[in-house]
Amino acid sequence: MAISSFYPPIRTLMGPGPSDVSPRVLAALARPTLGHLDPAFIRMMDEVKTLLQYAFQTKNELTMPISAPGSAGMEAVFVNLIEPGDTVIVCQSGVFGGRMKENVERCGATAIMVQDEWGKAVDIHKVAEALKKHPEAKAVAFVHAETSTGAQSNAQALCTLAHEHGALAIVDAVTSLAGTPLKVDEWGIDAIYSGTQKCLSCVPGLSPISFSARAVEAIQARKTKVQSWFLDMNLVMAYWGGGAKRAYHHTAPVNTLYGLHESLVMLQEEGLENAWARHMHNHQALKTGVEALGLSFLVDEAHRLPQLNSITIPEGVDDAQVRSTLLREYNLEIGAGLGALAGKVWRIGLMGFASNPTNVLFCLGALDTVLKQQGAKIESGAAVAAARAFYEQGNEHG
Ligand SMILES: *Cc1c(COP(=O)(O)O)cnc(C)c1O
Repeated sequence: MAISSFYPPIRTLMGPGPSDVSPRVLAALARPTLGHLDPAFIRMMDEVKTLLQYAFQTKNELTMPISAPGSAGMEAVFVNLIEPGDTVIVCQSGVFGGRMKENVERCGATAIMVQDEWGKAVDIHKVAEALKKHPEAKAVAFVHAETSTGAQSNAQALCTLAHEHGALAIVDAVTSLAGTPLKVDEWGIDAIYSGTQKCLSCVPGLSPISFSARAVEAIQARKTKVQSWFLDMNLVMAYWGGGAKRAYHHTAPVNTLYGLHESLVMLQEEGLENAWARHMHNHQALKTGVEALGLSFLVDEAHRLPQLNSITIPEGVDDAQVRSTLLREYNLEIGAGLGALAGKVWRIGLMGFASNPTNVLFCLGALDTVLKQQGAKIESGAAVAAARAFYEQGNEHG
């Protein structure tokens, strides 16, 4: 049997990522491929770096996308900064902090874990204690927006604390970039990585990163070679670094970079602050609807991420069946709980292009119907009306 072309179903992606991709980005992906050293392509690469500096709010020269997903950005940060024998304070209150630990240990370093309950923000007092106990710590690593729980930590305070103890601040901003306030220079973040498929409205596969001058010094002061050839920033920069003298390192994912360029142009057009406000506004509409249904959030209001909403699954409801019905009947994807939260929460993403009133109303309506079918004790009919009323009160964002 001949296999024919693949046409994916048209879904609405409201999970933990990938999120809906803007049609402008999809159109950019289809433009003709250029050679990876073509002068026109190199001009575009320079624009991507400038646009990323804007998105990250940094003047860091070493700001660029890694040619691989967010996990590779995470790995790039750790393998470049951390050497065998180093100590790193790793904060964990969800899945991704655990991956930081894996990275630290695979660098031959020691991870001192600061654990918080899943769904809580990182406790700054515990981090201060760990730094007092371990003055040798080279870095403090934490997740700004924990996608596995929907909780946000105080990145600025954690960076200040790290610097007071002479440690570098390493930040996972995969889900926070463009979705919630993030200021690399003002907060003193030394190394940061993100992803393209969450709040940037782009396809998966690239990881924007940025290193401060202090981080670059730490890389230059290494006693050992970076163990990853592909992610060694000294080598990567021979291709991505400024100037006309670029050398082949690897073949850049040319068309995916067109997509990132387009998504960053869109971000610039909207304005970063407006993008943050849009994510918050649509989150509040969703919250109004979710609460009208009688459901509750996992995370305290003060630490809730607007772009990732963890909602407690009501008693007696079949988690998997609800999600599969939403997918089958509504072409709507929402996220399942991960790890300790599996079966306990749904994760509703309102990320990037997917953060809009149409999606909020659609999701609430679908959830209402499916939960009612399941016999859940909810206030059926109230959710969409509440969210609509919310939108009608204020000006509509996006
Ligand atoms: C999605 C995510 C990652 C991993 O990104 P991939 O692109 O899936 O490799 C890392 N950290 C956080 C917080 C994430 O949400």
